[in-house]
Amino acid sequence: MTKSEQLFAAAQQVIPGGVNSPVRAFRSVGGTPRFIERGKGPYVWDVDGNRYIDYVLSWGPLTLGHAHPAVVAALQEAAARGTSYGAPTALETDLAQLVIDLVPSVEMVRFVNSGTEATMSALRLARAYTGRAKIVKFSGCYHGHADMLLVQAGSGVATLGLPDSPGVPAATAADTLIAPFNDLAAVERLFDANPGQIAGVIVEPIAANIGFVLPADGFLHGLQSLCCDNGALFILDEVMTGFRANLGGAQALWGLDPDLTCLGKVIGGGLPVGAYAGKRAIMQMVAPVGPMYQAGTLSGNPLAMTAGIVTLRELVKPGVFDGIAAATAKLVAGIEEIAANHAIPVQAGHAGSMFGFYFLKSPGRLITDYAGAKEHAAPARYGRFFHAMLERGVYFAPSQFEAGFVSSAHGEEVIEMTLKAVEEVIGRLRD
Ligand SMILES: *Cc1c(COP(=O)(O)O)cnc(C)c1O
Repeated sequence: MTKSEQLFAAAQQVIPGGVNSPVRAFRSVGGTPRFIERGKGPYVWDVDGNRYIDYVLSWGPLTLGHAHPAVVAALQEAAARGTSYGAPTALETDLAQLVIDLVPSVEMVRFVNSGTEATMSALRLARAYTGRAKIVKFSGCYHGHADMLLVQAGSGVATLGLPDSPGVPAATAADTLIAPFNDLAAVERLFDANPGQIAGVIVEPIAANIGFVLPADGFLHGLQSLCCDNGALFILDEVMTGFRANLGGAQALWGLDPDLTCLGKVIGGGLPVGAYAGKRAIMQMVAPVGPMYQAGTLSGNPLAMTAGIVTLRELVKPGVFDGIAAATAKLVAGIEEIAANHAIPVQAGHAGSMFGFYFLKSPGRLITDYAGAKEHAAPARYGRFFHAMLERGVYFAPSQFEAGFVSSAHGEEVIEMTLKAVEEVIGRLRD
């Protein structure tokens, strides 16, 4: 038995499934999750002493890699001054200002502790601001685990909100309307069928919780116009794409102007932070200025703010973001080329420092939404790829339906080592 196997067995006795977030349990690829002992730069080491090049990066936050010296030093200093006060600090204003400077649509920011809190609060705000109850989301888009967002369309009930999890009241889910990603006409129909009732449309600008699906030309701008025409708020969930798709998020990349933006992951530099942010007139609905209540004992935590500030300040230094984006492009181009040489059909994509690739059952660019991902992807092949790469010291996401991430610590050499491992395993992936 490896140490990971021993620790996993022990963990399962006291924690459901042995993990504190389901996908960590390796259920979709099989096998035992690696228990991690430490990380440095592009690498993590497990408790058995194996080193891995890490493309999970804590599911996105670690855009500077593990244990970046500037982040660690700042955190040590901050910790020595106390870990939480429950009173305002200058750090919160500093991080808010950094966000405002980077993310084009944002005029005010409220910090929370996770992406889940960010989306949950943004929707409460949209409902408070518009006085309407219904929201629109897209099947396959993940916005954290708040009740009203744990809803996707089951087949055949394309516009009926049905809960994805027991414990979500049907009444809560009933106000969540569902459309397929990239289907603007479906959203138009929802607005027609629910006149004056839709508070907002929330969307991941890149559907990156089903793998990696880019928006079709005109889709996001079309949503923005539909919201504007119907008096609903356009809510961009940039928890993953923020400071990743582009320094200013997907909205900077594609010239979008959302009413509200949800942030998380990178904004906390590896500590728990989320934020909802947007236009001043809307944000001023939030207590104590306005009547929409939202609070948090540890919100704006000084350690979390410090990690976020140092991370964003490093990221905006000349060449840093572009360097990560170039490494990401090189990785993805390499994977596509190697797969093509071995006639293994792959659909890959990247934006800034995030990427994804599907192994497909047949060639083509087939996946444009969740239904397509379920139909065309070959998860069993991905599972074999995942484990073969893990054996060679490369840690991709333990699921075909997750995005991957590159950090500023993933230099040329690390990308080349990765591609060498891909070359070694890919020929053996034929069914
Ligand atoms: C990760 C994620 C969330 C949830 O963030 P948590 O910090 O895990 O609660 C919400 N939206 C998107 C797009 C995400 O990728």
